Amino acid sequence: MNAPETAQFAVARQREVVEALRAALPKGAVLFNEEDTRPYECDGLAAYRQLPMVVVLPADEAQVIAAINVCRRLRVPIVPRGAGTGLSGGAMPIADGVVISTARLSRIVKLDAYSRTAVVQPGVRNLAISEAAGAHGLYYAPDPSSQIACTIGGNVAENSGGVHCLKYGLTVHNVLRVRMVTIDGEVAELGGEALDAPGLDLLALFIGSEGMLGVVTEVTVRLIPKPQQARVIMASFDDVVKGGNAVASVIAAGIIPAGLEMMDKTSSRMVEPFVHAGYDTDAEAILLCESDGLPDEVDEEIARMEAVFREAGATALAVSQTEAERLKFWSGRKNAFPAAGRISPDYYCMDGTIPRKNLAQVLLGIADMEIKYGLRCANVFHAGDGNLHPLILFDANQPGEFDRAEHFGAEILELCVAVGGTITGEHGVGIEKINSMCVQFSQAELDAFRAVKQAFDTALLLNPDKAIPSLRRCAEYGRMHVRAGKLPFADLPRF
Ligand SMILES: Cc1cc2nc3c(=O)[nH]c(=O)nc-3n(C[C@H](O)[C@H](O)[C@H](O)COP(=O)(O)OP(=O)(O)OC[C@H]3O[C@@H](n4cnc5c(N)ncnc54)[C@H](O)[C@@H]3O)c2cc1C
Repeated sequence: MNAPETAQFAVARQREVVEALRAALPKGAVLFNEEDTRPYECDGLAAYRQLPMVVVLPADEAQVIAAINVCRRLRVPIVPRGAGTGLSGGAMPIADGVVISTARLSRIVKLDAYSRTAVVQPGVRNLAISEAAGAHGLYYAPDPSSQIACTIGGNVAENSGGVHCLKYGLTVHNVLRVRMVTIDGEVAELGGEALDAPGLDLLALFIGSEGMLGVVTEVTVRLIPKPQQARVIMASFDDVVKGGNAVASVIAAGIIPAGLEMMDKTSSRMVEPFVHAGYDTDAEAILLCESDGLPDEVDEEIARMEAVFREAGATALAVSQTEAERLKFWSGRKNAFPAAGRISPDYYCMDGTIPRKNLAQVLLGIADMEIKYGLRCANVFHAGDGNLHPLILFDANQPGEFDRAEHFGAEILELCVAVGGTITGEHGVGIEKINSMCVQFSQAELDAFRAVKQAFDTALLLNPDKAIPSLRRCAEYGRMHVRAGKLPFADLPRF
């Protein structure tokens, strides 16, 4: 290996790219010194890091186009980036690539209370939309727990969800229009402000495409009226199986809660000393179940929910009596990930989705894996959507623990697929779950995904090597999708 020459080449390449970008963008929009680019080396999946060659900070759409044109001409890979809170490595840089940060595209362009829509730039924080809409009695429903920091551009790219998505839908159900720049430097608008748009539904295809199809420059979101009242029940269970089954029972009773979340004992004990939310830390599982709407509707629905939980074997029920108490109950759930940092040096947050009826079975499977891998796991998740978030606790300084955590996570995802679920719910595939894509999808399906990418990204420069694994990667992972007992490419050597 010829390290000095490799480094020399990288420096020359960096100079070439920086000069071209500086010629196309205003002063201060191009970062390339290590102390400036270091903050961009990872996203929320901090176990994986890569210093980018260059970071650009465009301030408007014309500057996004200029940056993309330079990258295309010089064949430089591009990684779009919002706030960097993603948990699957989607915004992790590529060594010889350019990060396009949307930090300066942070303007709410228009808020129209009459049509209940807001037009925002991609770097606007999720919560900032609801804060601005609040003056009109409106809000933006998808509420990732990271909403104080994450951006709408990142939400679109990940099709993010949150506590309220069970009733109000994911990002894809609350975005009307996306304006984006393609790798050819052209501006395209997907969707529209009317209820339906002509042509193929490319908006739905684009939402969740993890920065691989284009760079979002503007988003029109739907706003909805704030409910007159909301109350939440905290239900305790002495057994996770009963808690899991209670989730299925609520939905089976014809109730669509405004939020239905579950925390196991490890999670509630992890969170309670941090936020003092009033959680029952003796319960094996607690459910947080919200009702919202007109006051009479809420009272009636809360009574029905309580009856279902009693029938399902709840050992205690507490209903929020004030708005402050409701927010206190939710504060623990919303702060669960940061709280993990108090009891473990590192944690690995998985994200898989399963049919609700299999919740108890999968939670028991995860408990067995804790013994197998010798690591603790806290389960805190969007139970109503069947969207699991096992937090695998480990210490990266202990030899072998990170590897064990990774294998533990991969086995959880395989269990999700085995019960009829998927390897991601809302955090995306990125680099974190790229191997698990080989388990979930056949080669033909992966080829179809690749063809869709190439139809948008003709130069294959937008967030390459994320989300869609190559045939070689699947072969190396040794976990190709088996359909009807037949392994695809059976003649290919396995490693
Ligand atoms: C504590 C914590 C709690 C979380 N809770 C939730 C939760 O409840 N629900 C949930 O869904 N997620 C959650 N997340 C994950 C994360 O916040 C979301 O995925 C969020 O949408 C990422 O937004 P971001 O602005 O940080 O994007 P980034 O992390 O910067 O990027 C994410 C992806 O979007 C792409 N991207 C960003 N901007 C653009 C753009 N303008 N054009 C094209 N592509 C772009 C990137 O390339 C990358 O692939 C949580 C994360 C943390 C740290």
